Amino acid sequence: MKTKRVIIIGAGLSGLYSAYLLKRQGIEATILESRGRVGGRILTAKTEERGEKEYYDLGPSWFWPGMNRRVESLVKTFGLNVFAQQEEGNYLMEDTKTSPPRVIPGIYVNSPSSYRVEGGMNSLVNAVYKELKEEQIVLNTQVTRITKHDGGYTVHAETDGESTVYEGDYVISAIPLRLLVNQVGFSPELPESLLKVMLNTPTWMAAHAKFVAVYDRPFWRDEGHSGTASSRVGPLVEIHDASINSQSGAGALFGFIGYNAQTRKTAGREKLKELAIEQLSHIFGEKASKPIRVELVDWSQEEYTATVDDQVQTMHGSYGLPSEPVEQLAAQGLYFAGTEAAKGYGGYIEGAWRLQKSLYLS
Ligand SMILES: Cc1cc2nc3c(=O)[nH]c(=O)nc-3n(C[C@H](O)[C@H](O)[C@H](O)COP(=O)(O)OP(=O)(O)OC[C@H]3O[C@@H](n4cnc5c(N)ncnc54)[C@H](O)[C@@H]3O)c2cc1C
Repeated sequence: MKTKRVIIIGAGLSGLYSAYLLKRQGIEATILESRGRVGGRILTAKTEERGEKEYYDLGPSWFWPGMNRRVESLVKTFGLNVFAQQEEGNYLMEDTKTSPPRVIPGIYVNSPSSYRVEGGMNSLVNAVYKELKEEQIVLNTQVTRITKHDGGYTVHAETDGESTVYEGDYVISAIPLRLLVNQVGFSPELPESLLKVMLNTPTWMAAHAKFVAVYDRPFWRDEGHSGTASSRVGPLVEIHDASINSQSGAGALFGFIGYNAQTRKTAGREKLKELAIEQLSHIFGEKASKPIRVELVDWSQEEYTATVDDQVQTMHGSYGLPSEPVEQLAAQGLYFAGTEAAKGYGGYIEGAWRLQKSLYLS
């Protein structure tokens, strides 16, 4: 029997997981990834500076057991440890820059509870990655065109400025839908009905920027604060405890920056960091003014995540693609994975695992 040649576009969680499912059917897919790393929107800053492994999520931090059944089950399959988001203690509300924050006593708990993965969300990515062969993943390779012909598909890409070509019987796109339309040309063209939905599907969280400040310990807990705070004045609008799961380890706070993408770009990274630290000191006190380390990722500036249309923040809307054209293309060997293509939990990590049934190629 002829070996099935499968090309996957994108080595985010969805692309890696697609390759993992195919491996279980004895198929060794090739993944083409534009960045120099795997994981896509999942990005964890790791350090071992103080004798303990520290991890700070700069993309997603949470999953929700009970709701995110696939994440839950895969976390178990791969033997990863998880822990509840720290929410015990006072919730702080910053109304103005001049008055002290309001202290709202007690526990402000998300329902259902948010959970984090020990080692950071990257542990999920690494667990799947380890199941694959290194040579299956071609980094620094941006797919630019997909051409269908009688024998399958020719996938055109650019690797370090050089044109490269890959041949496959099947192609699985595992990149955000808007990026697919913006970056990849199709011959023949994708159906108009599909293109329209793809262009109207925001890349979840692509408009956001995440800031993390690391301290030698989570000092706010000593004062009865949970680390959760909101602000009406910014730049951080929503703040949470991002400390590692350790009694002795470092403490960290993370926040989403409320300024829009253009304002952030104009302000510049250093100014944003300065303003965020100043704000954390106003909310959590003097100790917050001296972080040992800060991280900032503006996802709207990431060319392999956000398109121009993704610069505007949106509410979580409806995700998924219309069945008819998708099934027609699947019958011809072209599939759409990636969280934005998932009808259930689209946008979330859970959606990145929810691949079309027909993707099993059996
Ligand atoms: C700041 C932030 C916070 C978030 N918080 C949460 C959370 O708490 N919980 C949650 O469930 N979800 C959260 N999310 C969403 C979550 O990150 C995504 O659902 C998930 O990572 C999507 O995985 P994916 O594989 O579908 O897409 P991606 O991770 O976007 O992967 C796509 C991959 O394709 C590559 N690529 C792009 N274009 C090309 C090309 N032309 N050729 C080749 N490769 C290409 C990219 O480099 C990338 O590696 C958050 C996202 C962000 C940014």
